[in-house]
Amino acid sequence: MLVQKSEITLASNLGKSRYKNSLAQGTKIEQLIPGGVDSPFRAFIEVGGQAVFFTSARGSKLTDLDGNQYIDYLGAWGPAILGHCPPEVVQACQETLALGPVFGAPHSLELVMAESVINACPNIEKIRFVSSGTEAVMSAIRLARGYSRREKIIMFEGGYHGHSDATLASNGHLSSGGIPGGSRAATLLARYNDLDSVRELFESNSDQIGTVIVEPVCGSMGVVVPEPGFLEGLRQLCDQHGAVLIFDEVITGFRLARGGAQELYNVKADLSCFGKALGGGMPIGAYGGKREIMQRLIPDGDVYQAGTFSGNPVTMAGGIATLAQLAQGDAYRLMEERAAALFAGLEPVIRQKHWPVQLQRVGSMFSILFAAAPVKNYQDSLTIDHQAFSHFFHDLLDNGVYLPPSGVDAACISAAHSPEDIEQTVKVMLTALDRIFTG
Ligand SMILES: *Cc1c(COP(=O)(O)O)cnc(C)c1O
Repeated sequence: MLVQKSEITLASNLGKSRYKNSLAQGTKIEQLIPGGVDSPFRAFIEVGGQAVFFTSARGSKLTDLDGNQYIDYLGAWGPAILGHCPPEVVQACQETLALGPVFGAPHSLELVMAESVINACPNIEKIRFVSSGTEAVMSAIRLARGYSRREKIIMFEGGYHGHSDATLASNGHLSSGGIPGGSRAATLLARYNDLDSVRELFESNSDQIGTVIVEPVCGSMGVVVPEPGFLEGLRQLCDQHGAVLIFDEVITGFRLARGGAQELYNVKADLSCFGKALGGGMPIGAYGGKREIMQRLIPDGDVYQAGTFSGNPVTMAGGIATLAQLAQGDAYRLMEERAAALFAGLEPVIRQKHWPVQLQRVGSMFSILFAAAPVKNYQDSLTIDHQAFSHFFHDLLDNGVYLPPSGVDAACISAAHSPEDIEQTVKVMLTALDRIFTG
């Protein structure tokens, strides 16, 4: 959510010698790259100050250009599920790179990767690999439209599905210039955790809505959990109205469970989108689902989607190695334990002191929300105090803990976080909260 900077006083790292080299690079790069970043939320637009440059990442730690170390909870916004630089993944990518990074023709690692994903997600019958989550969602929406032969889609206020026209069209909190009116008209907004709002849209647009896209657990308005019956209700409404149900599991996929949120909540989507954690750090997206729908893609059917780097060998190698680690290790147990320990360290103090902070998480996806009441939808997320978050973020930054520079985006724990990392993080966070609320 973009906040008006003029309304609040944000904290800042400007002028601090601890960030000297980052600040110098930041001033230069802004002359050449808009905002100094290739993706806007990397800039500290929500928290104030100037982004920190990183030079390396290993396990649970990041190192910046000034040599400062951080316990990392950004996880690269999701991909670093095994921690940074897991040796098996690095080795697989290096060996594959040496054989040729891209052929533009079929190769065997695509087959192995497809088998790996389909083994983990019994609901996926066929799959296509692309190079980002945005591409996966964009392609899945086109396919759902081609299949249903209906143009309108329903998405949820405050949801994030990447930066394609269709999913930015009406999304109030992330408004964008340059979106055609046709895209706006074709995207209808419902309220998360509110089936009636979906029912009403179906009833007033009968025969025009062919697609519902939803994050089974929201990651961009705070980590928001689906209330019991919500995902099941969406499944029923889609069946009743002949619409394709797309689960955007770009962040939840392979993170919440090997079979993603679908496994966790036992609701089957028609199409699912993946990305982030699936590639072991390589740029990846994927979409898949029912054979009958996937067969509509050219060359089998009539819906076009392509990509020079789609399914490239290095990304496939990174994905295969990552999925192998997730299948054989105890990554999910470790991540759950670490995340639970983090919240167990914070919760009693927050409750005892009556601080207006909500701890929300599913598995290794968590958010620390500066709000007086739990956040269950986009409207609730508007109550978040971005000023308090900005102070929290910078206090943590100064003390070696890196969070997403956004008061609403999901933070991620990896399988490489140690009990000591968590202990240290609890200490740093409680000190920061005390400074914010007790002064
Ligand atoms: C990150 C994300 C996307 C976009 O993926 P990119 O790889 O950044 O294009 C789409 N949907 C969800 C739920 C995401 O978290």
